[in-house]
Amino acid sequence: MAELDYFNDTHRMVRDTARRFVEREILPWIDEWEEAGEFPSELFRKAAETGLQGVGHPEAYGGSGENDVFMKMAVSEELMRSTSGGLVAGLGSLDIGLPPVWKWGSDELKERVVPPVLRGEKISALAITEPGGGSDVANLRTRAVRDGDAYIVNGAKTFITSGARADYYTVAVRTGEPGYAGVSLLLMEKDTPGFRVGRNLKKTGWWASDTAELFFEDCRVPAANLIGPENGGFYCIMTNFQMERLMLCTMANMTAQLALEASLEYVQQREAFGRTLSGFQVTRHKLAEMATDVEVSREFTYRVAAKIQAGENCIRDISMAKNFATRVSDRVTYDAVQLHGGMGFMREAVVERLYRDNRILSIGGGTYEIMNEVIARQMGL
Ligand SMILES: Cc1cc2nc3c(=O)[nH]c(=O)nc-3n(C[C@H](O)[C@H](O)[C@H](O)COP(=O)(O)OP(=O)(O)OC[C@H]3O[C@@H](n4cnc5c(N)ncnc54)[C@H](O)[C@@H]3O)c2cc1C
Repeated sequence: MAELDYFNDTHRMVRDTARRFVEREILPWIDEWEEAGEFPSELFRKAAETGLQGVGHPEAYGGSGENDVFMKMAVSEELMRSTSGGLVAGLGSLDIGLPPVWKWGSDELKERVVPPVLRGEKISALAITEPGGGSDVANLRTRAVRDGDAYIVNGAKTFITSGARADYYTVAVRTGEPGYAGVSLLLMEKDTPGFRVGRNLKKTGWWASDTAELFFEDCRVPAANLIGPENGGFYCIMTNFQMERLMLCTMANMTAQLALEASLEYVQQREAFGRTLSGFQVTRHKLAEMATDVEVSREFTYRVAAKIQAGENCIRDISMAKNFATRVSDRVTYDAVQLHGGMGFMREAVVERLYRDNRILSIGGGTYEIMNEVIARQMGL
């Protein structure tokens, strides 16, 4: 078992806490929340009280430490046992919104913003993608023009996780010349005049997470809310993507794992032509292939995580892991629905949700094609 190699006793303890949290606070209601298209905001506070929101964030601001990659993975794996990628993405929007603040924000900004988010009192979101494009970050259009001690921000963002109910938005803006050297990060606060949340978008999957449009009209944002150097935001965004992509690998691996587990159970109960589905060799071989794919993908993700933990540059490897994991989860969730027959198409079957939730994983945080671009560039092509 790979787990014996990568996870220590502390990780196992935290994993147990996360598992109990999921069993007690999420699983009894998750179907209801998925249908309602949201989970209660109170869950942010409950997760924070158990310490889960602080995992991966600095101790100085109320977290448990930012450098333990496997602790973060253990928690993410267990949260995925909620069977709802949307809940995990929504509850976890702080993991993409907050790190730029505590890495590159001013001391005042860190002290004001990070602790209330880690206590679950405030919600943090990351806003990079625009209606005009998400992959081409270097050419984003939301404009921030310096005016005395503030920036005047105009533009729009879309597909933002926790976009409707966040309090703090880490927003990518253009402060300078065209291209990547003119991009900065600014912290936008919800009560800023001129800031408006648009539609809460209806989606194929991730129903329990809110995904919104944001509009900025002459928003006056204090210059002190700048995160990192002016025009140095592109580097911050790309660095931030690395952990997001690792978490997306974990989501893909767990989506595939859960689909495999549900299928294994189903084929041993369901009968056709006088035997259980597992009595057909074609079914057994299908499951053997699914299990092999899941195992290999998880192992590779762990290996990449270990390299990140050791401080190695993993831009190429993390991109490979994301593409491999999502290809596996695409195949495994498809096959899991197939093995369930008509029941696989029914909302009451967990594989139906896994199949829908899975679809975003090769799009969000850098598409499959962009990952291949990154890999090719790292290969010198
Ligand atoms: C549910 C959900 C939640 C999200 N949450 C967030 C969030 O919290 N914050 C945030 O900022 N964004 C978020 N996103 C946005 C997500 O990161 C983007 O959708 C993604 O980066 C792709 O951008 P795009 O949708 O604009 O597609 P586009 O960039 O328009 O791409 C369209 C297609 O063209 C391909 N393509 C683009 N450029 C190239 C190229 N150079 N070579 C080859 N092919 C290319 C892409 O791979 C894709 O297949 C979310 C999206 C969804 C659906």
